[in-house]
Amino acid sequence: MSVYYDDSRDIYIIVPLRDAKSYPSRSSIDLLLPTRNFTGECYLWIYTEAEHPVIKIKNETFLPHEVVVRDGRRWLFMGRKYLKLNLASPPVVSFFGLTDPSGDIFLITSNKDFIPHGGLADIERQILGYSRESLGVSQIIPNVTTVGRPVKFKLIFTAGETGIKRGGRIRLTIPRIFSNPQIKDPNGDGYLKIVKADAQLEIISIEVSRDSWEWIDITAEFKEDLKPGGKVVIYYKAERTQIVPFEYERTDRSYWFSKIPPMAISVMPNKRCYFTPLANGYSHTLTFKADIPERLHLIVPSHARTGERIVLHGIFTDKFRNLSDVYPLHADVRLKLLGRDWEEDLGRPRGFYGRSAFKMLLDPLPEGVYRIKADSPSGRFNSLSNPIKVENDSNLSLYWGDIHAHSEMSDGIGSPESFYWHARNIACLDFTALTDHACYLTDNEWLWMQDLANMYNKPGKFVTFIGYEWSGKEGDRNFYTWRNELPLFRGTDPKTNSLRKVWRLIEGMEEEVIAIPHHSLENAKWEYHNPSFERLIEIYSMWGSSETADTKLWRMPKYGISVRQILSTGSKLGFTAGSDNHDGRAGFSGEGAYYTSIYVPLGFRSGLTAVYSNALSRREIFHSLRRRRCYATTGERIIISFQINDLCMGSEGVWDGSARIRGEVHGTDLISRLELIRNGEVVWSMRPNRMDVAFYWEDYQSPDELVYYYLRVKQADGNLAWTSPIWLTK
Ligand SMILES: [Zn+2]
Repeated sequence: MSVYYDDSRDIYIIVPLRDAKSYPSRSSIDLLLPTRNFTGECYLWIYTEAEHPVIKIKNETFLPHEVVVRDGRRWLFMGRKYLKLNLASPPVVSFFGLTDPSGDIFLITSNKDFIPHGGLADIERQILGYSRESLGVSQIIPNVTTVGRPVKFKLIFTAGETGIKRGGRIRLTIPRIFSNPQIKDPNGDGYLKIVKADAQLEIISIEVSRDSWEWIDITAEFKEDLKPGGKVVIYYKAERTQIVPFEYERTDRSYWFSKIPPMAISVMPNKRCYFTPLANGYSHTLTFKADIPERLHLIVPSHARTGERIVLHGIFTDKFRNLSDVYPLHADVRLKLLGRDWEEDLGRPRGFYGRSAFKMLLDPLPEGVYRIKADSPSGRFNSLSNPIKVENDSNLSLYWGDIHAHSEMSDGIGSPESFYWHARNIACLDFTALTDHACYLTDNEWLWMQDLANMYNKPGKFVTFIGYEWSGKEGDRNFYTWRNELPLFRGTDPKTNSLRKVWRLIEGMEEEVIAIPHHSLENAKWEYHNPSFERLIEIYSMWGSSETADTKLWRMPKYGISVRQILSTGSKLGFTAGSDNHDGRAGFSGEGAYYTSIYVPLGFRSGLTAVYSNALSRREIFHSLRRRRCYATTGERIIISFQINDLCMGSEGVWDGSARIRGEVHGTDLISRLELIRNGEVVWSMRPNRMDVAFYWEDYQSPDELVYYYLRVKQADGNLAWTSPIWLTK
């Protein structure tokens, strides 16, 4: 994908159609139009051998107007359109009637006099005056490094045969998640310096890229000619780097979230030219590898029945929860089963799959609450599992999921296939949903993603929901269904760009679709709340907690409203927690200060939603969510039961003279505080300082009209949990 553009001159967007998406039963291919902010008349061209190609942009159809050159594949002028292009919402373009799109090219330009000739390299030369391959090469040392560790990078740029004239420039791009580049303090973080150059050049600006808020652009201007073969060596010190294994290998800035490596170079070979990224294969790549294993995570189901065997999962990771290539020293680990006041040796971990994870089958246990402990001589892998509650008979089981995460299908990284694999085998989730941004999915991609979600759904073992994130003026909403398809509503489409329009389109689908607003403190507007679909709210994610306006679990500006403010309007919402992780890793993602793809410091760990349900199936989990039989945690599998007058969490009942409140909590650490919130106020609390606690309290204070109660659990390690409220009407 190639894009050339400059502020003062024309826009040229060149899109090789080998990048377009297809779907087996459909005749059209489609793609997102990579854009820069641009408004104006655009001229559309296609390079193809097809006789009657048709292009569709935003419901408008374009047919060939004139043929320019005849030579097998030739350029067809398809008409013009006034386009309002914008970084955040690239339009979907569909192509019909193409015979062999792999060699076809789509071109949009604002230059009405431009008549393209020949293939990709030819029009590049036509626009730029040179080919991209002739701009030069870049090399970075080191080109393989370890997540989260400080690095001193040395970049060597060698000019190609085009050279760079006096007044020409180079531009280095650094993703915002890396240390902020600066040229003033040699001892400070982010220090960047031109250490050697065959022609004099000077850094003239360091600023947030106008192409993306995720990048910092550093521009340097040449005071004399850099001859072909001439070199520039630049040093950059980064204490803050990537925390997720990833290979940066792109050069083009097709989207604001394109993953280009730190110090990626673009060249403007002379004063009157465009900045052009080095050609693919001529630019450096940078690989981040996981660190050595230094943690062991033990996960067991939260519920089991007597007589049932129990699966213990063990996962060795580095400190950012990445699976490592390095073999963990698991042979040194000893596992123990902890009962109420006894322990039993379970031996060493067994049943490894891969190098870093194992699944061990434990014998059935009598009724009670248990945990598994790991000891290692070095102390490195000491850990404690979540609690498991074994009961004789119980209809409900407790299931864990994260239904809010992103992949490379929108602004994240990692394939959808690896997303599902990670969610099931590493995060050990019972249910999940990949909720990529609807506005970055083409129609063909959405068909494929639904197929994939359906394929990975295994009732009884691992449940996937079809879902996506809708973003619009009224804040973000995630839509889910238990069915195997869901219409795609893009917040960028005039037909579905407001919640009011979306609610109208899904009227009657209340039993099939739910919408969950998230990070309400960030941006939620509540005027368009629809109680039929919005039954839940995501109270916590890697953004932090939206519970109250004065929460400490939040670092971003607050433009929205808190969950307690929303509840005070009378809205009846249960609580979920998720990750909003953009590394394709739901429910078990890095705990460092930075996202992979988003520059903002979303430094909180991923949350989890617990659901009480009869069975692990789409329908049952969905209906439990709809009935708000769920609670939210900051990622720990804390067992909570919470009832008022025998109503379970999420229920609505009638005030009958008092609220008889009972609950039971089994923590993953000491429970330092339990708080009961009644209509926004803490009305009862206790400091148990135990891992297992049961409580009872009766509230006689009659409510005026409607009263809600929810339980807030705090552990000694700082982790939190929030039950869905219970409402009583007078
Ligand atoms: Zn999201």
